[in-house]
Amino acid sequence: MAAVKKVEWIWADGKLVKWDDATEHVLAHTLHYGLGAFEGIRSYARGDGSASIFRLGDHIDRLFESCHIATLDIPFTRADLRNACVAVLRENKLRGAYIRPLVYLGFGALGLGTTESPVKVVVAAYEWIGAYAGDETLRRGIRAMVSSFRRGAVDAMMAKGKLCGQYVGSVLAKREAGRLGLDEAILLDPQGHVAEATGQNVFVVKRGVLVTPPLSTSVLAGITRDTVIRLASDLGIETRSTLFARDELWCADEVFLCGTAAEVTPVREVDGRRIGGGEPGPVTRRLQEAFFDAVRGPKPRYPDWLTPV
Ligand code: PMP
Repeated sequence: MAAVKKVEWIWADGKLVKWDDATEHVLAHTLHYGLGAFEGIRSYARGDGSASIFRLGDHIDRLFESCHIATLDIPFTRADLRNACVAVLRENKLRGAYIRPLVYLGFGALGLGTTESPVKVVVAAYEWIGAYAGDETLRRGIRAMVSSFRRGAVDAMMAKGKLCGQYVGSVLAKREAGRLGLDEAILLDPQGHVAEATGQNVFVVKRGVLVTPPLSTSVLAGITRDTVIRLASDLGIETRSTLFARDELWCADEVFLCGTAAEVTPVREVDGRRIGGGEPGPVTRRLQEAFFDAVRGPKPRYPDWLTPV
């Protein structure tokens, strides 16, 4: 992921504050127990100088769902937060950027059950152009492992919420992969089925059919996952949402990960086993192309997905 390049403004609790002033007390509740929710959103610049945020409304809707799961009442409307995302881009003169809204509990009291800690909201953004694992990886694919860490059961982990504390598992899995010299980790669910990667949904292609785990398992309802399914349908590619096992990953013709940060990233190796021909396959390439066309193509084919900056 690109290094964070400081900009001038961050939106915090309804107003723009200087980057260096967007700080928080060390006794903030979320810092200790992880009850908070966040989003990761991207904007893309187009060749003609314009820029737009991809599926902004869907990201803000998911933030409200995450907070509903987390029993956090956001003291702003959806429109307020959509406007805040546009404002941080405009005020910082950003075009190709990553936007990070975060809802968290500030300092009030430290008991687990306290309701005295205020719900706070920030929206930060910084420049981000390029691929999450390096530009080469979009062309060549990444090397992944099945993690020794698992996703929690659906009644233990609230996977439909993009909740701060739940990311400990992803961070540990990502660190493990990094230590072993690999790019990414794929986590299984408690029954041993493939769930998702550390911050990406997983797709495999077998005999021309696109397969991804169902939303009823321990996976986030990825907005890129939804985008890929729609693009596949428009391209006439059959998609199935069904459980599959680790060895089905190894024997797939193609594997790719998708997410706001990862976009559509091909996987060329899992657990030391070459996937397909060891390079991105034709279905992955078609979907990658359709994806980049949708997010930053010169003639937007899906204008409803784009919010102009
Ligand atoms: N799964 C997890 C655990 C994630 O953190 C993300 C990134 N938000 C995704 C999947 C992909 O979701 P999206 O396409 O909405 O970015």
